[in-house]
Amino acid sequence: MFSNKLLARLRDASAVTVLTGAGISAESGVPTFRGKDGLWQNYKVEELATIQALQKNTQLFWQFYSWRRTMLQNIKPNLGHYALVDFERYFKDFTLVTQNVDNLHITAGNKKIIELHGNILRDRCSKCNTLFPAVTSAGTDIPHCNKCGGTLRPDVVLFGENLNEAALRRAQHAAAECEIFFSIGTSTIVEPAASLPFLSKANGAYVVEINEEDTPLSVHSNEILRGSAGKILPQMAMVIEKLRIK
Ligand code: NAD
Ligand code: ZN
Repeated sequence: MFSNKLLARLRDASAVTVLTGAGISAESGVPTFRGKDGLWQNYKVEELATIQALQKNTQLFWQFYSWRRTMLQNIKPNLGHYALVDFERYFKDFTLVTQNVDNLHITAGNKKIIELHGNILRDRCSKCNTLFPAVTSAGTDIPHCNKCGGTLRPDVVLFGENLNEAALRRAQHAAAECEIFFSIGTSTIVEPAASLPFLSKANGAYVVEINEEDTPLSVHSNEILRGSAGKILPQMAMVIEKLRIK
């Protein structure tokens, strides 16, 4: 299932960087944005998770985020998330970069994690940037900051907003310095995250894509593993465990 080249890298590598997207959480029951479930009440999710929706359609925006938060309350990490906790143990210089905002990697137990798009379980004051635990709102009652009175918003990066610069720089550094780069369950379309595997490859890493479908990265990958992250990652973790017992 895994090529000899990949097996050799898995045995010897110390620097490994992983990029995850919505696909790794799909098996936990979290809908992806671009799959067949990428709709909410007939709205395209890509039109709701935007800075324009927050500013111009605030009530609908909050209803959407409150629904996502409520949905996440009963959701647990799956075997794919847990395998990446093992990866963090195996590789000395491991970095997990995620585009997901669902907190599932942290619940699973990963520590060396960069949340490129923030975390939906936090709110942030639009004025003073203080962070708060997430609230849900019916949309009629937009939550306010108890320090400065500014309006709160989910602490996530919306379409149309810039990423946190320090987080992006750390992710780029991890991509440029690693020996193996895994791109897992991401459509590799949303920039700047989509450029990370390319940066990694340009710097000599072995780039592996794990996805059920083709993406723009597929033809540029050194290895493609077609299938679900929840099946492939636990198998790989077992293989690494065996390879690294010297
Ligand atoms: P996406 O929805 O654009 O793409 C999901 C990808 O995962 C697809 O390529 C699909 O083929 C693949 N996939 C689906 N099920 C899979 C499985 N079981 N195993 C392996 N691959 C699988 O997601 P994206 O690339 O992460 O970009 C969407 C944006 O939306 C991101 O910015 C992210 O922040 C946000 N988002 C986050 C969540 C979350 O936090 N769970 C959910 C939806 C969207
Ligand atoms: Zn404030």
